[in-house]
Amino acid sequence: MQYADIIIDISHEQLDRTFQYAVPPELQERIQVGSPVVIPFGKGNRAITGYVVNLTDEPNWDPAKIKPIARIPSEGVPIESHLIALAYWMKSHYGATMNQALRTVIPIKQKAAPKEKKVLHLALEEQQLQDVYTDLISRKRHSIPKQRLFEALMEQPDIPWDVVTGKLGIASTVIRDFEKNAWITIESIRDYRNPLGTIHAPKRVEVTLNEEQEIAVESFAADYDMGIRKPYLLYGVTGSGKTEVYMEMISHVLEQGRQAIVLIPEIALTYQTVMRFYQRFGEAVSILNSRMSPGERYDQFERAKKGDIQIMVGPRSALFTPFPDLGLIIIDEEHEPTYKSEQVPRYHARETAVYRAKLTNASVILGSATPSLESFYRMEQGEYGLLRLSKRVEERNLPECDIVDLRQELMEGNRSIISRRLQELLADRLERGEQSMLFLNRRGMMGFVSCRACGEVLKCPHCDVSLSMHRDGKLHCHYCGYTTPMVSKCPSCGSKYIGGFKAGTQKIEETVQKMFPKARILRMDADTTKGKNGHQDILNAFANEEADILLGTQMIVKGHDFPKVTLMGVLAADMSLNANDFRSAERTFDLLTQASGRAGRGELPGNVVIQTYQPEHYSIVAAAKSDYDDFYKQEIVYRRMMAYPPCAHMLLVSVTSLSDAEAAGKSQEIADYIKEKYPKVFLAGPHDAGIKKVNDIYRRILYMKSDDYEELVAIKDAVEAYNRDNSRYRKASIWFDFDPMSGF
Ligand code: ADP
Ligand code: ZN
Ligand code: ZN
Repeated sequence: MQYADIIIDISHEQLDRTFQYAVPPELQERIQVGSPVVIPFGKGNRAITGYVVNLTDEPNWDPAKIKPIARIPSEGVPIESHLIALAYWMKSHYGATMNQALRTVIPIKQKAAPKEKKVLHLALEEQQLQDVYTDLISRKRHSIPKQRLFEALMEQPDIPWDVVTGKLGIASTVIRDFEKNAWITIESIRDYRNPLGTIHAPKRVEVTLNEEQEIAVESFAADYDMGIRKPYLLYGVTGSGKTEVYMEMISHVLEQGRQAIVLIPEIALTYQTVMRFYQRFGEAVSILNSRMSPGERYDQFERAKKGDIQIMVGPRSALFTPFPDLGLIIIDEEHEPTYKSEQVPRYHARETAVYRAKLTNASVILGSATPSLESFYRMEQGEYGLLRLSKRVEERNLPECDIVDLRQELMEGNRSIISRRLQELLADRLERGEQSMLFLNRRGMMGFVSCRACGEVLKCPHCDVSLSMHRDGKLHCHYCGYTTPMVSKCPSCGSKYIGGFKAGTQKIEETVQKMFPKARILRMDADTTKGKNGHQDILNAFANEEADILLGTQMIVKGHDFPKVTLMGVLAADMSLNANDFRSAERTFDLLTQASGRAGRGELPGNVVIQTYQPEHYSIVAAAKSDYDDFYKQEIVYRRMMAYPPCAHMLLVSVTSLSDAEAAGKSQEIADYIKEKYPKVFLAGPHDAGIKKVNDIYRRILYMKSDDYEELVAIKDAVEAYNRDNSRYRKASIWFDFDPMSGF
């Protein structure tokens, strides 16, 4: 006999409450996880609808008392079925309870207080506005708030009430006065209905697709019309017009009465990006963002379910929008690590999108200028189609790029962090009144040790990742736990200039200021961006040309456009190469390519200087040429050789506890169990995690590698069961991470 665990109300708080029913033999063929079923419920055996979330051969209690499922409802398959099946897949594919998975996929019903929001709309024609304005300011003692409101309306004819009274500091009496004069109208909208509010988007500039864009859209559409649904890699250089291509594809899918989801990394989810979709599709578009309350999110999902909107734009979680007939999922900047969730279930939006698309017969577009190794590899394996955009829309030249060898600099007597070439170019830009950016790559700065004379980085002899200096004075490998004493001389060249790399942005600012006393320098790092708008204020100031040089960490690299910047200096490019994780070359290539892209965006030609101790490293050489293919070819060899993803799969098990002994005990217990039950699988650890103790919680890790993902899933299930039933360490908990992005 088969038994089904059933949830009866997915919008209910108690998602985790399941009820067990028997599956009658005549229904067995037709019932799967996600199936809606009608069951007799409660004392009166009321017929209600529920969803199957799990199937098992083992009854939870006395089989004689388990009632059978009555029937399968006659109506069509509800949207929830897909999402429940998706949650079930996530639970088994990534490790989570069904409850955790369902909570990720189906938002819990929450009442959002229907907020009233008011918006001011300018009611004057341009000439009228000019006249009234001129008339006002020609008076000697005119009202300054009035003048400011006019000026604000000139810039933006529709302004939310809150902005006027808040940010602009204009009293509501002034607004009411404008309304009385019929200069403006005031509209009340139910705020939660549409987070975009009522916007009068400026008219869209029609674009005619160029030949490459046309080919990409046409081949997608031809496949789609023939019923071919699959994931495609849209591999297009920056500025090649990917967004235009997305929009054409969405149009095609919408014409067939279906809906689309567009995922964009949160950091790139700016007003401008959303506007482009809004201008094209108007009210059919809605957005999600992380600032929304659960109630607001729930409302957006309800609108999607009811068919009020056809396109949802948002970060990772927008993937679960409950559209009735989802036909397309687009993931922009698909290589971004933020697409992997850091909470259980630790799902990757890319794989989850591919699975959801399969359930609803949809296609997936993965767009990037620097694809993840995963996507490029799967494209090569024939799992994903390829759509290529090789040219920039406006044929702008790539900036000229110099690689400076910092070992050479030291040898020739320059001990400062700014190379002579970079000094020369900085001086040139200051003289010409153009802007520069200096990027300190701090990723992976945690404790690695290198030689300043020859560039040698101390690495683990077993894992080919850098060793980290720990407080115990020893060097540790975070992959296999290998340790070795710290050295005082470089094992390669004998120099005594060996140690941890230390240079903060503040120190660099002082150095640069001393070199160029007149330069106006803005520094952007964790210290200077503390305030609420700290981040944006600095970017705005730089955009307004209030400074000559912007110095900062990763924050300055991503997604900002400063047309006046003609020089980008990368101060220590290889820093991120030494991060002790197997994706460090990929991250480095990515960061450097993006950094180079910052110089020469406007009319003026740009320069890039990449300073490094490893000028010959393929990720640096390839980034200097903006040559992804060259990078990929070399990186994939390394991944294959070391059996790292995407060439194989990894399962990371983290054991955490407030007690060091509990964490150590449990991790050893699990390792022993795996070694006995799966003697053939590659197992490393247990050992201390890279950051051993965070917030007083100790963390030990172990990991496995296998060609077969399903084998790792089976191990995960076995470890979970063992931990639940037999573990002697109750004060430690475990979690799983498949193909991790970080966390060693
Ligand atoms: P990507 O996302 O690949 O970086 P975008 O889609 O943002 O590129 O396009 C870059 C710029 O080029 C945008 O301003 C866009 O409006 C413009 N653009 C794209 N395609 C065309 C086209 N066929 N004709 C004219 N302009 C275009
Ligand atoms: Zn050396
Ligand atoms: Zn190692």
